[in-house]
Amino acid sequence: MKAIVFDHHGGPEVLRYTDVPEPELRSGEVLVRVHACALNHLDLWVRVGIPGVPFPLPHIPGSDVAGVVAKIGPNVTKVNAGEKVLLAPGVSCGKCAACLAGLDNQCPQFTNLGYMIDGGCAEFVRCPEVNCFPYPENLPFEHAAAVPLVFQTAWHMLITRAQLKAAEEVLILGAGSGVGSAAIQIAKMFGCRVFATGGNDAKLAKARELGADAVINHKSQKIKDEVRRLTAKRGVDVVFEHVGTATWDDSVASLARGGRLVTCGATTGYDAKIDLRFLFSRQLSILGSYMGTKSEFATVLKLVADERLRPVVDRTFPLAECAAAHTYLETGEQFGKVVMVVD
Ligand SMILES: [Zn+2]
Repeated sequence: MKAIVFDHHGGPEVLRYTDVPEPELRSGEVLVRVHACALNHLDLWVRVGIPGVPFPLPHIPGSDVAGVVAKIGPNVTKVNAGEKVLLAPGVSCGKCAACLAGLDNQCPQFTNLGYMIDGGCAEFVRCPEVNCFPYPENLPFEHAAAVPLVFQTAWHMLITRAQLKAAEEVLILGAGSGVGSAAIQIAKMFGCRVFATGGNDAKLAKARELGADAVINHKSQKIKDEVRRLTAKRGVDVVFEHVGTATWDDSVASLARGGRLVTCGATTGYDAKIDLRFLFSRQLSILGSYMGTKSEFATVLKLVADERLRPVVDRTFPLAECAAAHTYLETGEQFGKVVMVVD
């Protein structure tokens, strides 16, 4: 089969479009013919390499897969060949206490397609049967593939971790990112007042189209000052973080008393400080969040099928041009998802 493979870490040039053997199925696994695979910042980290994370090489990246079941392995009972599916990106053991409690993103063996195991930037991908979810028929493959990772992550952050409530005020950083565009929609659906940040006017206009009530240009405006102005000095109840070092101080300073900061990433760096006096006296909560559960993925999919949430696709590339797609994603110019299309 054709696949994007890299044998060592580095820049986009390490990605090769080549022929590799089709994966062999083990018990409980299915082979999915990939029609579209969305990229995430995670793909860039995996390609560059993360100190202390021994990625198996050679490696096929890609976490967000929409396609059709091509073949089923031994002991598969619920999925049939020919079914259109959207894959949950998270793969876990299914047997530990966390998995049995439905907290599969806390499983010690938790990983994503395209992280510690081969992913969907290929003609075929192998995954456990339990990762196959009903396909949202209202969407073409390249839009469906833009749903899984970012919507389940944004849902886990806002609803499960930050316990978002109606009428709260929320600051969403990086409206143009996949998680940002998902978070704006989720927070609006819950009846919140949403402030979104972006680096240029075109992105800010699109954030407003998605429902943001006010927008902040983080290149020409100081985020914490704008939040103070927009909230009559109160600050916001929830800050949705994934940018890291570049925005951390502003994010903390933007919180109201009792506010919650929830973070799922560190795109600009992982060094952050917090003044403990500020943390305890203002009764702030700092919440870490990683991916989401299959149950949350099911919830998000229902809302996508009902068209209450919609994926935002910036641009598609043919699979062979994956290196160009990585280069484009690294520029940060996109609004929404960059998706590989597999003919
Ligand atoms: Zn487990």
